[in-house]
Amino acid sequence: MVFFDIIKQQQVFFDSGKTKDITFTRQQLSKLKSLLKENESLLYEAIYQDFGKSAFETYLSELALIYHELKILNKNLKKWRSPKRVPTDLANFPGKSYIYPEPLGHVLVIGAWNYPYQLSLLPALTALAAGNTVILKPSELPSRTAQAMAKIINENFPAGYFYVLEGGVQETTELLKNRFDKIFFTGSTRVGKIVYEAAAKQLTPVTLELGGKSPTFVLADTDLSMTVKRIVWAKFLNAGQTCVAPDYILVEKSIETKFLEVLKQEINSQFKVNNELTEHYVQIIDQAHLKHLENLIDSDKIYLGGSINYEKRLMMPTVLQHVNFSDAVMQEEIFGPILPVITFENLDKAIQQVQKLPKPLSCYVYGKDKKRIDKIINKLSFGGGAVNDSVMHLSNSHLPFGGVEFSGIGAYHGKAGFDSFTHYKSILKKSFWFEPPIKYPPYSKWKLKILKWLFE
Ligand code: NAD
Repeated sequence: MVFFDIIKQQQVFFDSGKTKDITFTRQQLSKLKSLLKENESLLYEAIYQDFGKSAFETYLSELALIYHELKILNKNLKKWRSPKRVPTDLANFPGKSYIYPEPLGHVLVIGAWNYPYQLSLLPALTALAAGNTVILKPSELPSRTAQAMAKIINENFPAGYFYVLEGGVQETTELLKNRFDKIFFTGSTRVGKIVYEAAAKQLTPVTLELGGKSPTFVLADTDLSMTVKRIVWAKFLNAGQTCVAPDYILVEKSIETKFLEVLKQEINSQFKVNNELTEHYVQIIDQAHLKHLENLIDSDKIYLGGSINYEKRLMMPTVLQHVNFSDAVMQEEIFGPILPVITFENLDKAIQQVQKLPKPLSCYVYGKDKKRIDKIINKLSFGGGAVNDSVMHLSNSHLPFGGVEFSGIGAYHGKAGFDSFTHYKSILKKSFWFEPPIKYPPYSKWKLKILKWLFE
């Protein structure tokens, strides 16, 4: 297959040392930005064809994050790539200690379909910024976005440096038989395990950006209208096909009725014009996923929505009420526009229920009581999240973005991303002018005494 050749070319390119030249990297990142800018209309058209995503939403949730990351990397590149001096302990006197960042080598990035540009290009450009070469394997499901990226990248970068390899399960399986210096995977927990297993055979380090069921607590003292506004935006953005979308609501029983009423009004105001879904509402990726989502809906529990248009691949924003943890919709990540609402009267018990599930990628808490908010944050383990907001934490490049346990291994964005593609090489530099005799034989009691003083 053609990619054996490309892997070889990337090894040769990396070994040439070119990627370690910061001027070269800056040129490549700036070229990438110009190419994306020049081809924005192609990118918008491709994603619209794939799943009806508007240019506005594509800019907001994909391109803006890519451009922002490029800006952050460019600003910090020199600092992050430079060796850092760190203190030296007395035992190594006289000496100086340094940490040298070095790129890992040739990297494989595997992307997911739901934000096809951002989830592929953001890790790829971070790997390039850290001085690596990259093979990017985007998801095959949104085929036009994969083709658009392949066209832009492969026509403008040497394959030995940056290459987009289109393909599905078969190609990825073949690809994973090779050794890479790093694999960065975004996708499901199921496939994450396959990637991890393949990487383990080659002792390849991985970052796994996976999914999970992200709980959203709504406490009785919250600002209800602002809470609902933010939840509705975050949940139905990309028609719920967002790894960090609020998966389900845990609302305090005393405000359940009011919460549902405000939720209905807000959904209608954000997504409906003249009782029809707005043109900005995103399609479900394919018929199979649509069918899967339909099966998660218990028709007796529909509070709002529930209707599906298979021809247009649309599912109305759907709210389920009187949901409990044993319902089908609570057995797996939803990844679509279905919002189950569960009520609770005792916060500790609600937290215990969430603790029984795998650790989620995100958790959100809406309310004003700092003690109760902190209790949720401190008792639950999850990748990251927000208080009085949802999803937006991932747009702050100072916050490492990643999961824990079944929602992922490692993190990226900003410095965390740079670190995930970097090896930190520790160097102790000594001079010749002085050498204490302590560590050398013949050993003696006084030498041991000094050693103890030095180390304890
Ligand atoms: P997926 O796991 O089905 O596919 C991801 C990638 O793996 C694709 O490129 C696909 O071609 C490849 N792949 C699929 N099956 C494979 C196999 N058997 N062997 C090797 N490679 C294989 O995931 P998806 O459907 O694209 O994305 C949805 C999932 O991704 C959800 O669980 C979601 O939560 C998660 N996700 C996580 C993040 C994050 O940043 N943590 C972001 C987006 C999506």
